[in-house]
Amino acid sequence: MSGLCQQIDPAMWSELLKNIDTVIFDADGVLWWGMDAILGSPELIEQVAAMVIGMACTLRLFNDDIVSPPAICVEVLQQMELTKPKVYVIGYQGLKDELGLSGFQYIGDGPDHFENYSETEFLYDVPLDPEVGAVIVGYDSHFNYVKLMKAANYLRDPKCLFITNNDDSTFRKPNQKFTIPKTAAIVVAVTTVVQREPLVVGKPHITTYNYIRAHWNIDPKRTLIVGDRCNTDIKFGVDHGMKTMLVLSGVHTLADVDKFRKEDRKDFLPDFYAGKLGDLL
Ligand SMILES: [Mg+2]
Repeated sequence: MSGLCQQIDPAMWSELLKNIDTVIFDADGVLWWGMDAILGSPELIEQVAAMVIGMACTLRLFNDDIVSPPAICVEVLQQMELTKPKVYVIGYQGLKDELGLSGFQYIGDGPDHFENYSETEFLYDVPLDPEVGAVIVGYDSHFNYVKLMKAANYLRDPKCLFITNNDDSTFRKPNQKFTIPKTAAIVVAVTTVVQREPLVVGKPHITTYNYIRAHWNIDPKRTLIVGDRCNTDIKFGVDHGMKTMLVLSGVHTLADVDKFRKEDRKDFLPDFYAGKLGDLL
């Protein structure tokens, strides 16, 4: 039964894996935290790989084993028809690198301060590139009024695609007393102005599920997702018929799970939980 949030031990974990062909691991908060691997996570991944393959192995991770929002963004762009060739990006370098590697021309790098424009330009006609056929909005530490204005004006063209690579409201908090806003705040600013909703890439959205299905042809009933966020990782699994496991080494806690249960967010409730992956060794 789904959503029981049952604590799992190594014996139960071994039993569970007998009915699982695919394990999807979220990364930050599950495998690592900042720059450091979470204690026991690498060993647990080795163990899972050995059990799935049925032999002892040394795990080697390839780019093709990793699902990243930028990679999904690129594939979505390749599948949709851009009426004009360039992409205006409010986003971080990894997203831009992925676009560049895939042959997309992008603009929007770095800071874009209003002091670079005349008052007339700023108020009436901020210079726009006529070749922009898509706007991608992600996390951008240089986000400001000029970028908002440019995105809004590119998106006046209804044929201009509007994509965001996640809708997380905050980053994880290394300092619990400090809040770090993430992409959703920027997306809300843009959508408020343009009155359009973006295509959202990333968990828990269908774009990510479609990407995984297309590349690995998984059977969701025999797939387990392990994550540290109930509203993204666990919801992704619940929405798409997978088994779900929360680890408490990242963002959400058992107190959060209790809160979600009281709010009747069944789509946020995992089947299992563990303190961290290494507890299952
Ligand atoms: Mg995470």
